[in-house]
Amino acid sequence: MKSVETRVLPQTSPGTRRALTILRYGLAGSRPKAYLQAGLHADEAPSYPVLQALIEKLDEASERDAIIGEIVIVPAANPIGLAQWRDDMLQGRFDFVNSINFNRQHHDLIQQLIDSIGPQLSENAEQNVKAIRTRSGEIIAALQPQDEAATLKLLLLSLSHDADIVLDLHCDLDALLHLYIGTPLWPAAEDLAAQMGAEATLLAADSGGTPFDEANSRPWWVLAEHFTDYPIPPACLAATVELRGLSDTDPDMIEGDSDNLFGFLQRRELISGTPAPLPELINPATPLTGVDYVKARSAGIIVYLKKPGEWLKKGDTIARIINPLPEDNVQKVVEVKSRTDGLLFSRNVDRFARPGKIIAKIAGAKALCEAEGNLLTL
Ligand SMILES: [Zn+2]
Repeated sequence: MKSVETRVLPQTSPGTRRALTILRYGLAGSRPKAYLQAGLHADEAPSYPVLQALIEKLDEASERDAIIGEIVIVPAANPIGLAQWRDDMLQGRFDFVNSINFNRQHHDLIQQLIDSIGPQLSENAEQNVKAIRTRSGEIIAALQPQDEAATLKLLLLSLSHDADIVLDLHCDLDALLHLYIGTPLWPAAEDLAAQMGAEATLLAADSGGTPFDEANSRPWWVLAEHFTDYPIPPACLAATVELRGLSDTDPDMIEGDSDNLFGFLQRRELISGTPAPLPELINPATPLTGVDYVKARSAGIIVYLKKPGEWLKKGDTIARIINPLPEDNVQKVVEVKSRTDGLLFSRNVDRFARPGKIIAKIAGAKALCEAEGNLLTL
């Protein structure tokens, strides 16, 4: 069974209208429930065709009654961003109204849950999960978002907050396939990373900024830490799946990634049938605090010496920044070096550097900063 729903967002300008399309497979309320969305960062092209290819596979599975759980799909999660053409480039990462990143500041349910869920908790973990999901839904339903983007964010959360699995499909700039996922979900979620062929899996219990995946998953472990007398499992496996780089829309990638998503949903018993054997995890997960966000220290043109996929040692030169109008000899060519041993998993698409701009990301096993809470890029 498949249904299609359209939800209209409030007007930002008279005479304009944007809407969200929601696809639903399986019986509403059946378990497990999975939620997948593409294009929350509307400029991240690979997420759309991958999800579209999955939709075709789900259509076929639905026709032969093979959907066991409930699967909710939002094929284009950010119609606001999709309208952001500027100088012939689609933008889509930041709200033009207030410059807030569309994948930050999703509603954090934690405090309201802490304040109200206590009396409903018991020794029964399953009942606790049910009670927390019901209460989350009530909190979301009572909120009155002010603007179009806040309404959109809350609408997305209203569709996903009670899911067992939430996969938010994104991509990086020029990158390997990698995942962001909550530390308490590891290693239980290792099959996702292995199935997707992730070359890096970055773990944080609180990356800061409330990205969409953590708005869904983090309440569970914070509640478990708060209500220590009651069993509260990490009941939502939410991950940000980075489908390589902005231009990675090759047909074989789309086919492979959508097959892997389908296989994962089969393994997690949302779809009947036997998935292909699980591939080996390519690289062990590493802490998000171990990511070296390599920053340029000078202005100029980036000449990369290393590519995504290369393993680096601390002190290795990743790039040179060439300044064509240096004020002294030092500025002419400035080398940028790795601060850690690890895998170069992302670098920029454009080649212009300014002091402080992140030009590469390296996944290292050793933490480079002590505290979590502010670990994401702009
Ligand atoms: Zn993104």
